[in-house]
Amino acid sequence: MSFSRIIIEWYRQNKRDLPWRDIRNPYLIWISEIILQQTQVAQGYDYYLRFVERFPDVRSLADADETEVLRYWQGLGYYSRARNLHAAARQIIEAGGEFPQTYQEIRALKGVGDYTAAAICSFAYGLPCAAVDGNVYRVLSRYLGIDTPIDTTAGKRFFAGIAHEMMGTADPCDYNQAIMDFGALQCTPQTPHCQTCPLSDSCQARAEGTPAAYPVKSKKVPVTDRYLTYFLLCHKNHIYLRCRPKGDIWTGLYEPYLIEHTTPTDEKVLFAELISHLPDQELTFKTVARGVRHILTHRRLNVDCYEVQLIRPIAIEGYIAVSWEDIDNYPLPQLICRLFSKMRE
Ligand code: SF4
Repeated sequence: MSFSRIIIEWYRQNKRDLPWRDIRNPYLIWISEIILQQTQVAQGYDYYLRFVERFPDVRSLADADETEVLRYWQGLGYYSRARNLHAAARQIIEAGGEFPQTYQEIRALKGVGDYTAAAICSFAYGLPCAAVDGNVYRVLSRYLGIDTPIDTTAGKRFFAGIAHEMMGTADPCDYNQAIMDFGALQCTPQTPHCQTCPLSDSCQARAEGTPAAYPVKSKKVPVTDRYLTYFLLCHKNHIYLRCRPKGDIWTGLYEPYLIEHTTPTDEKVLFAELISHLPDQELTFKTVARGVRHILTHRRLNVDCYEVQLIRPIAIEGYIAVSWEDIDNYPLPQLICRLFSKMRE
């Protein structure tokens, strides 16, 4: 039996029952694929349902304002995905409102890469596009024993060709879903279930005893440390927040007063810095959290946080006073939600 037939057979017996399965609506498929890009299925499931309930079609998403879209994304991380979805929905409306139907048009939407375009084309329209995500790289590199690095342009092109060949004449929708589920459930990253694998007789990595060696990557991106100190400036029932600017983490999300340094900085120096920014206030500091670590892609945030009760309201450039009753209207990074919870403990 061919590779694709074995995989599809396995899929028929093991497929996960998910709300975005067996649908042909390109908009819903698009949303689910973007959510699942950097999110586990278990976590993405509820987000998907809530998102499509509020934004059931391209028009409703395009008409919403970005802050609301980010609110529905809050907690999922990688917020550029939400901003790109929103921008792409507007792109579609400007082009007439019909969801695009070709690979090139879909690939041209903001935030849509090769993988997502292929997934939408095959799931919604049955087009013969092989989708290559992390699961597919893993399964193919192990099965065929390919040690070409997957994180180079040449490697990506090479695997795209292999993926297309391995799909053969199989139904593109079934095949793509099958190989992705196979990677997620059978040929898993840490401990692949080789003993029960229907491909084990012909799998190269299994024969070599080296599944863990695949897929191969050529480089490791270094992780940078950042040192953030948040001051929860409160006056009566309000806290001061700002919308994070473009060009850095958490664009468009809200955060309390921040002082950032490139190295660890003594508490007294930080307090003096804040006092110099806020003259005419008698400030007292209450520790909310120290040494909190928050990991983002390629960045490690080292966070301290203090509560500061102000004796009178102030104007701070770029910041607004938000009442605690209204806080749910502002999209916040997960880290900030954690700090607020600690403050209330
Ligand atoms: S035999 Fe093991 S390594 Fe090979 S495809 Fe199956 S699960 Fe993956």
